[in-house]
Amino acid sequence: MSVTVHTLGCRVNQYESQLLAEKLQAVSDQALVHVVNTCTVTALADRKSRQLVSRLRREHPTALIVAVGCGVRGGEERLRAAGADLLVENRDKMRLVEVIELFLQGRTGEGNGGWATLDEERLSGAEPRVRAVLKVQDGCTVGCTFCRTWQVRGPLRSKTPQAARAEAESLARAGHREIVLAGVNLAQYGEDLPSRPSLIDLLEALLEVGGVRYRLSSLSPDGLTDGLIALFAWERRLCPYLHLPLQSGDDAILERMGRPYTVAECLDRARAFRSAVPGATLGADVMVGFPGEDEAAFARTVDALAALDPLNVHVFRFSPRPGTAAARMTPRVPPREAARRAARLAALADGWSEAAQERFLGAEVGVAVEEKQGHLAWGRSENYLWVEVRGRGATRGTIVPARLVERADGRLVGVMVDRTENG
Ligand code: SF4
Repeated sequence: MSVTVHTLGCRVNQYESQLLAEKLQAVSDQALVHVVNTCTVTALADRKSRQLVSRLRREHPTALIVAVGCGVRGGEERLRAAGADLLVENRDKMRLVEVIELFLQGRTGEGNGGWATLDEERLSGAEPRVRAVLKVQDGCTVGCTFCRTWQVRGPLRSKTPQAARAEAESLARAGHREIVLAGVNLAQYGEDLPSRPSLIDLLEALLEVGGVRYRLSSLSPDGLTDGLIALFAWERRLCPYLHLPLQSGDDAILERMGRPYTVAECLDRARAFRSAVPGATLGADVMVGFPGEDEAAFARTVDALAALDPLNVHVFRFSPRPGTAAARMTPRVPPREAARRAARLAALADGWSEAAQERFLGAEVGVAVEEKQGHLAWGRSENYLWVEVRGRGATRGTIVPARLVERADGRLVGVMVDRTENG
């Protein structure tokens, strides 16, 4: 089977696409198959999923076009109209090989199975990348009012520490030096498992695997416990960067969103992390234009972000999702005003990022090399700084020590540290 898997959306989707590609490669059928791993986090994501399906249909008129994942439920009609032959929801995503084979035999709708456990999902990671993604959690029961993800991702499921450790071992053997732990809501890791292991238990099991460093994709502030901060404080192989989905700096808006923390609690967690963990940096997700967000609420969001001193901020504009409580909420913020607020935050975020980067001038960091050209290389440090590394010997996929010497043309420049000089 000649298969191409196209991915939209988050790191969980990226992991699943890699796994699907590995599974489908093993199938020896002649069919030409394009799989679109869809996303539904915003109306734009839905539209992009459909556009990709229709482009593939145009470019490959005889291919089997399969739309899978988060954008399928509720999007069936429009995905079919865009040219999808087969639609597969998240529940059956890991059974895609079987579903496609049944479809090619003209047997559709057979064998809709239960939700696979995450221990059944195991990436070999045969094609080395700089950074491997390891999915350890799925589902969410928080039920934020603006979110469709929890509605399409099924029940809470966590990968046991043992299974995650074994998978990390094969990823390390395959040459990955950094592993990003991904989930729909990592703060709920382990809640579904009989022994209820915590994120700390998971990380301690993973740290038994040598030669790799670990990064959390993102963590809701309510999941950032003192115990977890303590582990980050002394374990240098845990990357000291946390991406916090803050969403708003106004408590009334957070309550309307159904978020499980207050602004003060989030800032307290951020301060605790930054003061305890050497080289700590933070990133944040924020949503502007949520129904009821007035100028004062927006100003509080700006203040909260400034207090976080973020290295990067992902700004989203509220997108009413069908079937969510927030889609029925009023008063709506006019799109032009939401756009103005998003632009303002993006401009401020550049300034915050510059200040956060400059704090590390003179420091030595470990850069995971993603790109290389001559004696220049580029990559992310453990605390997620984007660094241009000058010096010979940096190869793609390795982690090289670099001393940050200056900021030039908007980026940090580091000089490779020759370990021999330090003996
Ligand atoms: S925490 Fe909220 S936004 Fe995140 S997946 Fe769960 S319901 Fe959605």
